[in-house]
Amino acid sequence: MFLILFGAPGVGKGTQAEKICAEYNIPQISTGEMLRAAIKEGTDLGKKAKILMDKGQLVPDDVIMGIIDERIKNDDCKNGFILDGFPRTIRQAEEFTAMLEKHDIPEFTCVEIYVPNEAILERLLARGREDDSKETILNRLEVYQAQTAPVKEYYQKARKFFSVDGNKSIDEVFNEIKNLAIN
Ligand code: AMP
Repeated sequence: MFLILFGAPGVGKGTQAEKICAEYNIPQISTGEMLRAAIKEGTDLGKKAKILMDKGQLVPDDVIMGIIDERIKNDDCKNGFILDGFPRTIRQAEEFTAMLEKHDIPEFTCVEIYVPNEAILERLLARGREDDSKETILNRLEVYQAQTAPVKEYYQKARKFFSVDGNKSIDEVFNEIKNLAIN
């Protein structure tokens, strides 16, 4: 299964990605998780990324594309993988399409988990991650509207795109995503 889980911060992409990966035995590739790991390790990349992440801003496209290119070359990606939190800009989406052709990877299904903005703020405040202060969250939602929401149109035009209601139960959302991504 080659799947992009799309949606604003806090809609449950990480939760669903974990469940799907466990069921299909394929890796979850979360750029946010990889950046948080780099911060923990104290690498140069981590140090630079932290400043932007703490403000709710995006890490530069070139950095993200480098991370993705390295990761998808791994053998464990051959039978599929799930992207969670990537692509987040039109440029990332365009470069990813070119990268897939280069690596001979099949087309992706893009499934959006949709939750209205009011509910997202509540969910993120409840999650309590380090970059989840109210100010950072509001910033991330603005960045999402401005830079990431247009990615949806990119996949609507060019590829398979579906939307599921993220207010349904975790298991209902899980089943809907599976049905869409398998077909
Ligand atoms: P996430 O865990 O996906 O919410 O990501 C946390 C933070 O990492 C985001 O607010 C961004 O600062 C950064 N980040 C993660 N993925 C990307 C990406 N694909 N492009 C740019 N920045 C990213």
